[in-house]
Amino acid sequence: MTVLHVENLLTADGWVKSARLFLAGQRIAKIQVGASAEPGDERHAVVVPALSNLHSHAFQRGMAGLAEVRGASTDNFWSWRELMYRFASRMSPEQLEAIAAQAYVEMLEAGFCRVGEFHYLHHDIDGRRFADPGEMAARIVNAAGMTGIHLTLLPVFYAHASFGGKAPNPGQSRFVHDLDGYARLVDRCRELVAMTSLGVVGVAPHSMRAVTPEELGQVVRLLPDAPVHIHIAEQLGEVRDCIAWSGSRPVRWLLDHAPVDERWCLVHATHIDKDEIAGIARSGASVGLCPVTEANLGDGIFPVLEFLAEGGRFGIGTDSNVCISLAGELSLLEYSQRLSRKVRNVVSLGGCSTGMALYRYALEGGARALGVASDGLGEGAVADFVSLSVDEPATVCRAGDAMLDSWLFASTAGVVDCVWVGGAKQVERGRHRHRDQVRSVYKNAIRELCA
Ligand SMILES: [Zn+2]
Repeated sequence: MTVLHVENLLTADGWVKSARLFLAGQRIAKIQVGASAEPGDERHAVVVPALSNLHSHAFQRGMAGLAEVRGASTDNFWSWRELMYRFASRMSPEQLEAIAAQAYVEMLEAGFCRVGEFHYLHHDIDGRRFADPGEMAARIVNAAGMTGIHLTLLPVFYAHASFGGKAPNPGQSRFVHDLDGYARLVDRCRELVAMTSLGVVGVAPHSMRAVTPEELGQVVRLLPDAPVHIHIAEQLGEVRDCIAWSGSRPVRWLLDHAPVDERWCLVHATHIDKDEIAGIARSGASVGLCPVTEANLGDGIFPVLEFLAEGGRFGIGTDSNVCISLAGELSLLEYSQRLSRKVRNVVSLGGCSTGMALYRYALEGGARALGVASDGLGEGAVADFVSLSVDEPATVCRAGDAMLDSWLFASTAGVVDCVWVGGAKQVERGRHRHRDQVRSVYKNAIRELCA
C-alpha cells in the first residue's frame, strides 16, 4: 500500500495538518490526521483535490495561436470558426490521437484529473463515413488511456447550420449525424469507454443552432441518467438569431422546452438576463465557464456574482485549449469580474479566500457536470489529487488558503508538483511521465498538418 505523509491536506472538511494518506488501488483507504511520517512514507508539503476540466475540444490544441491575426472585417467568433473548420477538415484519426494526447498531458500537468471531451470530429475527410462509427472517438479514448486522465466522453449531435433546421454547410460535413447514426455512435462510445477506468459517457446536443427541438428531445432521452452538455448563449449573434426564430432568448427557451436539471451543463451561458440566471440556478444545472477561450474569442463576461447569489453552480473548462492552464482559467474568471466591476475579491465565500472559493466551486461543479462524485478528499474517495510545491518563489512560506491564492494568482509555472489520477502518479516534479514521447508524436502530427 502506498502511504503519503502530507503537512497540509485539503480534505472535504477543510485543511488538516500532518496527515497520512493510505492509498489502496484507485481510492483513498484511510486518512490519519496529526500523525508523524513513518519510514517509507512519500512526503509532500501540500495536497489538494484535483479539478475536472468540464469542456474540451482536444483537436483545437493543434491550431492554438494560428487565429491571432486580424482579418479584413471585424474579427470575431465566426471568423475564428472558419479557420477551425479548415484545420479540422484535414485531420486524420492518428493526428487527432496525437493532438489529444498532447492536450491531455498539458491538462494533467496543469492539475486536472478528468476531462469532459465535447467530441464532434466524427467522420472522415469530406464527411465520408468510417466503417467504425467510433473511429475518431476511439482516438480520444486511446489518448485519455495513454496519458491516464479520467474521461467523460460527450459525443456531439450536430445536424444543422442554424436555427430552424437549416441544412449544414460543407465545413460541417465531418460533424453531422441523423438521429439513428448518432444513436449508433453513442452505443459505440459506451463500448469504448466501458474498457476504461472510471470513464463516463454523456450526450451533447452541440447547440441550439445545430439541433431542432424534436432532435434535442430525442438526444436527451438516449441516456436517461447521463450528463447532458450543450453550448448556449456564447455569442450575441446567437441570442439574436434565437429570438428571431422563437421569440425567446436561448437559455429561456431551453428552460421552457427541455427537462433541464442536475444532469445538464450549460456551456458558456455568457449572455443571460436576470430571469435566466435565476432559472438556471433553480434547475440545478451547472454552467461550464471557459474564461480563457471566452476571452480569446471575445465572447463576453458571465455574470458570476449574480449567478452565485441565486445559488448557481459552475465548473471550468479549457474549451479551445488555446492555453491550457487551471490557474489561468480561475484567475481570469475572477479578474474579468474585477475589471468590469472595478472591485476586488468578487468570487468569495464567507470564511475563506477568493482562491479557495474559486477552487471549491470548480471542484464541485466540474465533477457534477462530468457525472462523478464531488465530495473532495476523504476515506473511500477516488485518489485524484495534486501536490503543490512550497519551493517556488510564489509559494515559499505559504500554507492553507494562501497556498491556493498564491498558486492561482501569483505563479506562472512550477507550483504543480505531482498529480495522481485514480491512485496512479501521472505527473512528477511537474512533468508527465510520457511527456517527451507524447510531445514528439504531437510535433510530427502538426508538421504533417501544416505542410
Ligand atoms: Zn466549446
